[in-house]
Amino acid sequence: MEYITSYNLEELRERLAKLGMEKYRAVQILGWIYKKFQTDFDHMTDISKENRKLLKENFFVHPLELKEEVQAEDSTKYLFRTSDGYTVESVLIKERDHLTLCVSSQIGCAVGCKFCATAIDGLVRNLRTEEILDQFLHIQMKILPQRIRNVVFMGMGEPLANYENVRKAVEIMVSPWGIDLSKRRVSVSTSGIVAQIKRMSEDPIMKEVNLAVSINAPSQQLRELLMPISKTNDLSTLMKILKDYPYPKGRRIMLEYVIIKGINDKEEDALSLARLIGKYKSKFKVNLIPYNPDPDLPYERPSLEDIYKFQKVLWENGISAFVRLSKGVNIFGACGQLRKRDVIKLREWKEEKAGLRSS
Ligand code: SAH
Ligand code: SF4
Repeated sequence: MEYITSYNLEELRERLAKLGMEKYRAVQILGWIYKKFQTDFDHMTDISKENRKLLKENFFVHPLELKEEVQAEDSTKYLFRTSDGYTVESVLIKERDHLTLCVSSQIGCAVGCKFCATAIDGLVRNLRTEEILDQFLHIQMKILPQRIRNVVFMGMGEPLANYENVRKAVEIMVSPWGIDLSKRRVSVSTSGIVAQIKRMSEDPIMKEVNLAVSINAPSQQLRELLMPISKTNDLSTLMKILKDYPYPKGRRIMLEYVIIKGINDKEEDALSLARLIGKYKSKFKVNLIPYNPDPDLPYERPSLEDIYKFQKVLWENGISAFVRLSKGVNIFGACGQLRKRDVIKLREWKEEKAGLRSS
């Protein structure tokens, strides 16, 4: 048995032919799954009984089991169980006029950023294409008729360290025969693996989606301390490849900057960040993410006043900068807080700290 959600259109056409089915059925079947969100072969009414039997004998659809939902005011965190017993997390965020789904690409992460809860347990394994997609499918099926139109790869894991699986999941998300999301509404966020960003820029599918890069520090020295990956992917090489990134005019790369009290939140840090961007102001926008606390990490969030001061310096230097007040911080769903932790412990900690944190 295989997961039908691991196939793109071309692969499924070939696979069906091997089973003795007409190739054109592939579009029909994928239409049921990705357009009508009907994943039960028995309900695919325009497929003959015989063919449905063949499908059931050969394919599964869902590799993940939805275990738990934790609701907050403006977001919902979903916990899934993989078939080998690990937990995968996704967060659905209600924005003013749309829904954004934050998906995970790995179980854990090997990159080891010092401020990130996902890093604490290290990497367990990559998620497969079908496991990435299934986060979308389960949640979309649950909330119908509302539709998810935005996807960000900002959950657990480093998407570009799991390139092939992420690529195929993105292909299924943005293809007309798949979920058919707008390419401009899918964002891949990376810690800045230079070779993989180059690969993305040359890839007909991946170069069309939004690139977000976690910069987090304006100097090589500080970045190396916060993000060990910077030792081998240094800031100047990273900035050079981003400045050369072949986006059409007007399209911007998002630079994410987790702002941490006493570490990278000074006005002079903002000034250094502005210098780093230099004359390429129209190629970038900066997303300031107030640090989200974790009981096992020693950092703190700066005051809102300091965050806005930082933003003002960027503005004064002609750089677009937004402050993203994390949605979902109250349920540990915010970016950088996803972690394969015990849900009970999470609740206890949440209750203990209730009222002590701002969102
Ligand atoms: N691995 C990818 C994508 C997942 S992390 C990456 O690093 O880009 C998604 C975002 O969460 C990154 O921008 C990261 O810098 C940020 N992040 C990590 N830990 C955080 C924390 N404790 N508080 C706020 N943001 C955090
Ligand atoms: Fe991995 Fe991203 Fe967390 Fe760094 S910030 S450890 S790359 S998930």
